[in-house]
Amino acid sequence: MVFDKTGTLTQGKPDVTDEIECNDCPVNLRDLDGNSFVLQLAASVEKNSEHPIGQAIVRYAEERGLYLMEVDNFMVVPGRGVRCSIEGSLVTVGSFEWVIENGGKNESEVRNELWKLESLGRTSVCVCVDDVVVGLLGVSDKSKPEAYSTVSTLQSLGLDVWMLTGDNATTAESIANEVGISSNRIRAGVLPGDKAEFIEGLRKDGHVVCMVGDGINDSPSLARSDVGLALGAGTEIAVEAADMVLVRSNLFDVVVALDLSRKVFRRIQWNFLWALIYNIVMIPFAAGVFYPFIQLRIHPAWAGLLFFSQ
Ligand code: ADP
Ligand code: MG
Repeated sequence: MVFDKTGTLTQGKPDVTDEIECNDCPVNLRDLDGNSFVLQLAASVEKNSEHPIGQAIVRYAEERGLYLMEVDNFMVVPGRGVRCSIEGSLVTVGSFEWVIENGGKNESEVRNELWKLESLGRTSVCVCVDDVVVGLLGVSDKSKPEAYSTVSTLQSLGLDVWMLTGDNATTAESIANEVGISSNRIRAGVLPGDKAEFIEGLRKDGHVVCMVGDGINDSPSLARSDVGLALGAGTEIAVEAADMVLVRSNLFDVVVALDLSRKVFRRIQWNFLWALIYNIVMIPFAAGVFYPFIQLRIHPAWAGLLFFSQ
């Protein structure tokens, strides 16, 4: 049983907890609020994002009454972040590694602040304008109340429970710890394609794999697993790629679904067995096959009924 982290094991309703400026407010962007320009930039980019982190940033900025700027060329990179251009500047909002890969230059200044955030178990979101990281937002997402009981019930049923996440290792470990997944069952910093590859690897090793996820980034692995379970509140593409949908988005329904499937399957097997026994004994009996040996015969109407009820 493989779980995605953000939005699946966690509530997917993160709160913005920290706002850190790493550089001056970019003067080329006109409408920036000098006091919370990091948040304002991030929220303007995330306005079109379906990701729980993006929605949290927008909600927080709106609560603070910040004006969200017009953006062009909005683009989502699943498992990494979002980017667009604002008044001619390229603004990138996402994970530190991705922002640095894309040319963010002041890596060493940012790394220190990043480390502080992650050691508190927060997810960090980097905000980069052209090639300068201007700031960081710290986002904290609690695990779902039913996550621990779901994981421990599955483990007690003999399932091997894993967690896959695109988030950093420190945050991943703190959530895994909360929900009872051991640290050798975590894969952090994985991209959507790598998640699917991991699932494929488990299947190659002879395991039957069920993946539970909610995001665009989970769709390839939902499609590749033996059974893909999407949360009803997840993105449309995840729901589309999955075999089963947990409509109430309650994680414990994973256990219910498993129990129900096992019961239904057992019932099907029993029904087959009974039908087999009945057919082997009653149909030849109705056809009079045993008559030469036991001289027992039944009225044709009863024989018809035996055939009919097979
Ligand atoms: P998970 O696998 O736990 O569901 P994702 O793969 O969706 O997480 O995201 C992995 C990381 O990529 C996040 O922790 C975040 O740093 C970054 N990220 C992804 N999408 C966004 C976004 N819209 N805004 C900011 N950061 C993002
Ligand atoms: Mg997710």
